[in-house]
Amino acid sequence: PAPAGLLEDRLLPLLRAVPDHPVPGVTFRDITPLLGDAGALRAAVEGMAAALPAGTEYVAGVEARGFVLGAAVAVAAGAGFVPVRKAGRLPREVLAEEYALEYGTATVELHADALPAGARVVVCDDVLATGGTADAACRLVERAGGEVASVAFLLELAALPGRARLEEHGRDVRSLLR
Ligand code: 5GP
Repeated sequence: PAPAGLLEDRLLPLLRAVPDHPVPGVTFRDITPLLGDAGALRAAVEGMAAALPAGTEYVAGVEARGFVLGAAVAVAAGAGFVPVRKAGRLPREVLAEEYALEYGTATVELHADALPAGARVVVCDDVLATGGTADAACRLVERAGGEVASVAFLLELAALPGRARLEEHGRDVRSLLR
């Protein structure tokens, strides 16, 4: 894979800052221009896959953009993919974890039998903001019997405390872009 500085020079311009989305005062980073650029998508997926810890067996992608990147990263790394979904979407027995949003709460779910005992799992999402979503996804993986080998993001919003929060909980955070 290309060195981090070169990747950032190439990929960061393909992210769009959208002011006041989804609510006033929040600047949303839109990754869809990067996804739509064939070379950039490949570079992003290969870069994320190269950063997975050795022996990663599963990528657990968080709905919905964590599905797009996570499945591609899983294929590139020779790992399986398991979906972490929003509440009420998975058809069989689930484990659920609730986490706090600025206003209210959200819940993510994982099939109870998604992972064999001791499976080495990387939790994957597009953007790390406050870390609440990834933190909940990690708890799900552990409750399902897996081991969280690392937590992988395309983009880390370095001004927010997501990395600190995940590291406090012993997570190995790997982000391609900051
Ligand atoms: P957190 O739980 O870390 O605060 O928020 C991360 C979750 O919200 C991720 O699932 C991510 O997809 C979404 N998210 C939060 N902020 C942004 C953003 O600026 N851009 C994108 N693409 N997703 C975001």
